[in-house]
Amino acid sequence: MKRVFITLVTACALMCALITGLTACGLHEHDFTAEKALDKYKVSDADCLHRAVYYKSCAECGEKGTETFESGGYKHDFGGGVTCVKCSYHKPSDGLEYVRNLGITGVKSKGACTDTDIYIADTYDGQPVTDIFEYAFSGCSSITDVTIPNSVTSIDRYAFNGCDLMTSIAIPESVTWIGWNAFSGCTSLTEITIPSGVWNIREQTFSGCTSLTGVTLPDGLATIEARAFSGCSSLSDVNIPDDVTVLQYAFADCSALTSIKFPNGTTYIAEGTFSGCAALTDVTIPKSVRKIGSDAFAHCVSLSDVIIPDSVEYIGSEAFLDCDALTIYCEAKEQPSGWSSRWNASHCRVVWGYTDGEDSD
Ligand SMILES: [Zn+2]
Ligand SMILES: [Zn+2]
Repeated sequence: MKRVFITLVTACALMCALITGLTACGLHEHDFTAEKALDKYKVSDADCLHRAVYYKSCAECGEKGTETFESGGYKHDFGGGVTCVKCSYHKPSDGLEYVRNLGITGVKSKGACTDTDIYIADTYDGQPVTDIFEYAFSGCSSITDVTIPNSVTSIDRYAFNGCDLMTSIAIPESVTWIGWNAFSGCTSLTEITIPSGVWNIREQTFSGCTSLTGVTLPDGLATIEARAFSGCSSLSDVNIPDDVTVLQYAFADCSALTSIKFPNGTTYIAEGTFSGCAALTDVTIPKSVRKIGSDAFAHCVSLSDVIIPDSVEYIGSEAFLDCDALTIYCEAKEQPSGWSSRWNASHCRVVWGYTDGEDSD
């Protein structure tokens, strides 16, 4: 019994010594908060994808701790050329202006760079370049191509707005945020793929990208905000993933869009979503839809027929304004009380009491 007691006391003493971190001579309590990037604390070297890792150390005596921190930039092997022999990362363009602001490192402007084919650095002043700051390249008419490194997570608002000669831009998978108007008015941009981590296409992000023919949207997308693709007059095909909420005028004036497949679960077709889509001929409104906002299909002059399922409780004013070729087939026997008195302001032909496969007019 006595031996057990002594063992316990010894164990407790050892535990206390460990917990308080007392040194052998008991002079001070270690404070492992110092971040000194010295070789003696190094855990691993930098490479193409990782920065160097070091152990933190005691601020008072320099004793090595167990927590780690990252320091310095990435390290590529250019082997005398312009691209890394290991990861094909291209040497960054000279002259671009980078800043570190509130702990965030990013590109601020084109600076003195004269390149038309821009390569953004993945490191600046020992820190990863994570942002393309707002307006960084806005209105840069000389730029034709931009390569963004995979250190970048955020493309801020208006970052590439009005880069009217930019034909291509590959957005790396590391990007999770694209700010509003980031690519608006990029009239030469032909294709875009949105990385899988982006959950929101913000307002007017691609508005007025008149050469954009294709866009690939990720499955995890939650929202396509107002006017996100408005005026994309070459966009002929878009595949909206399931469960995406599409906000007002998102595809307005997409005058090359011929068909639209609504995502599963759509309950609301927002105001003006497809207004001015002059080539639109094929629209199937799913039976999950309860509301169709005003202006939703206004000026869709090629639309010849559309079926309104009896799930639709509300249609806003002028939803089919100026759809001159349109016959509207309503499953409802008469106009539901929730529909605007001006839902059919242009007096398109309406067939009430429509049932699948037969015209009961
Ligand atoms: Zn110490
Ligand atoms: Zn590399």
